[in-house]
Amino acid sequence: MQFENLHSWLAPKSLPLLISGPCGAESLEQVLETAKGLHVLNKVSLFRAGVWKPRTRPNSFEGKGEEALQWLTEVKKQFGFKTTVEVANAQHTELALKHGVDVLWIGARTTANPFSVQEIANVLKGVDIPVLVKNPVHADLQLWIGAIERVYNSGTKEIAAVHRGFHFYGKTKYRNKPLWQIPIELRTLFPDLPIICDPSHISGNRELIPSVAQKALDLGMNGLMIEAHCNPAQALSDKEQQFTPAQLNEVVSKLVLRQQSASNDKAIDKLAQLRNMIDEIDDELMNVLKKRIQVIEEIGRYKKEQHITIFQLERWQEILRTRGQWADKMGLSRQHVEKICQLLHEESIRIQNGVMNE
Ligand code: PEP
Ligand code: MN
Repeated sequence: MQFENLHSWLAPKSLPLLISGPCGAESLEQVLETAKGLHVLNKVSLFRAGVWKPRTRPNSFEGKGEEALQWLTEVKKQFGFKTTVEVANAQHTELALKHGVDVLWIGARTTANPFSVQEIANVLKGVDIPVLVKNPVHADLQLWIGAIERVYNSGTKEIAAVHRGFHFYGKTKYRNKPLWQIPIELRTLFPDLPIICDPSHISGNRELIPSVAQKALDLGMNGLMIEAHCNPAQALSDKEQQFTPAQLNEVVSKLVLRQQSASNDKAIDKLAQLRNMIDEIDDELMNVLKKRIQVIEEIGRYKKEQHITIFQLERWQEILRTRGQWADKMGLSRQHVEKICQLLHEESIRIQNGVMNE
């Protein structure tokens, strides 16, 4: 695949390229008020708003549909913004085209479904409109590439991938884990495919967004999609992660841009890549530790109820023996694993003692 240069179809007003707007278009007033706030910043190249919102659970705000497309036409008229909406099927795509939306985006849940992506791609045959393809909900690079290929095969060469993180079953500090190695691999396979990061949906809360956005830039991503709402506290979806336009301005102003050398876009710093992988793995380790401690507390409560002692020699011996065997099988140092077991066991005893003496 050979992609068009992002700058030829989405000229950035500032570095980095910034896409912003509310999670969802809720009313004409909300859309215009948000657009007005973003317009004065003079940093946003593309105004986003969901008009069909794929929601995990029913009875949540599912978007205003075609009516909201007219609000976006107003945004174009009043503020000169180019606009983008999420399309999830052929009908959405036809309506978005009918109402003059400038760029389409395919959401994470849709990318995960090849039938839906193909249906959208079929409508796009012979149509000249850029498309942003978000990564699928789960960590499947091939599925992401497959969606990009389906759009590409419809004839559009103006495509950008959007990295919005991946669902993770369990607790993490992110709403969607970034798993940076996946967009890095995509960049390696398709060096001329622009990649835009969506730190809003990775983070799920305002506090995390600046560091995620910075990391995306440090990895050489080509732009950011960040949600903004004129009144985040009243937002009908994703209220925890939306900035006011003024807050967005502050966050974007603080981003540090690395020296742009000609090769910088393509060559991602190897050390940064590897360190990012370590960050991910440590985040996973924390998760696993947390789960282990929760089970230990449960054991502590049970032992207390049953009047059983905390320290059980046979169990401890069994742990040491089996973990040593597992270490051998996995090619890990037995000594290293035994040291970790020792630490885990000490902490386990400390926690159970706490539970017993509650
Ligand atoms: C969105 O951008 O508001 C959205 C629904 O995103 P995603 O498809 O990444 O969940
Ligand atoms: Mn959202």
